[in-house]
Amino acid sequence: MFLPELKSEFDEDICILIKLDNYSYNFICECGDASLLTVKDCQDTEAIFISHTHIDHFVNFDFVLRHQIGIRRRVVICGPKGITRQVQSKIKGYQWNLIEEDAITYEIREIVTEGHIQRSEIKPPIWDVIPIEDSSEDVLYCNKRFHVEYTILDHKTPSVAYLFKENDTIKINIGKSEFKGGSWVRELKMAFETKDNQCKINIEGKTFEAQDLYHLLEVKKGDTLGVIMDHAANESNHQKIATLFQNCNKAFIECFYKSEDKEFANVNFHSYSTASAEIMKKCGVKEAIPVHFSRKYKQEEIKELIEEFNVGLS
Ligand SMILES: [Zn+2]
Ligand SMILES: [Zn+2]
Repeated sequence: MFLPELKSEFDEDICILIKLDNYSYNFICECGDASLLTVKDCQDTEAIFISHTHIDHFVNFDFVLRHQIGIRRRVVICGPKGITRQVQSKIKGYQWNLIEEDAITYEIREIVTEGHIQRSEIKPPIWDVIPIEDSSEDVLYCNKRFHVEYTILDHKTPSVAYLFKENDTIKINIGKSEFKGGSWVRELKMAFETKDNQCKINIEGKTFEAQDLYHLLEVKKGDTLGVIMDHAANESNHQKIATLFQNCNKAFIECFYKSEDKEFANVNFHSYSTASAEIMKKCGVKEAIPVHFSRKYKQEEIKELIEEFNVGLS
């Protein structure tokens, strides 16, 4: 299960930290200036996801970098076209003569276009961009618990919206069988996952075909979490959102303007309260959370904006 935490106060830039139950590492979405992001959060990060590099989404990368130096691990950074050079340029703005070579390695996965991901690696002290030739994986990000899908939205610049999809888990209902647990449970789950239906499973001296025991298994659907940042509230963006985030369990969505300011939203390729609510409703998102509000609004106006969003959802 995903356990996302908003790390930015309402009047700060956007930053969302994603944790999972029983998982040691976390995932940072957006590097806006966010006072609730801690040193430990940065040190425990497995990957960073950036929608686009407007300053309010990328300014705090320096803070993250500052605290990741010395963790001696590989951290993946996913982001839009141009992210590789932009990460490198930020890093090269500092002097690195005292750093150890294995202090950190960044693997950058640049989403050039939908389906085309350019991978490269940069590490101290020179921080040259070294292309990774083996681009056999076409999945943007995948670990043993989940994978990440994406779509590129139009914000007058590409803005990547991410969908985190947890793997389904298979549980055995041992009470439905006449047997005790044992290594056969693991073998049965493996046969189910790999569709090895005729695999022989030995239980307490008897042999079964795996498929004859599948009725003992229950599939628990994995969790889903969307992060939809800056985008114009137009038909083509909404179509992409509706396709990727259909029936998503939880989604954070940009809600930069109040409904009365939709003209500003149009000019700046942003969304606004009622449009964001409408598309979340269309997607059937179970829990939609409005985030990333214009700094021109006072706290009272942001309350009104959130109210507009909630009314739009209902
Ligand atoms: Zn932006
Ligand atoms: Zn923004």
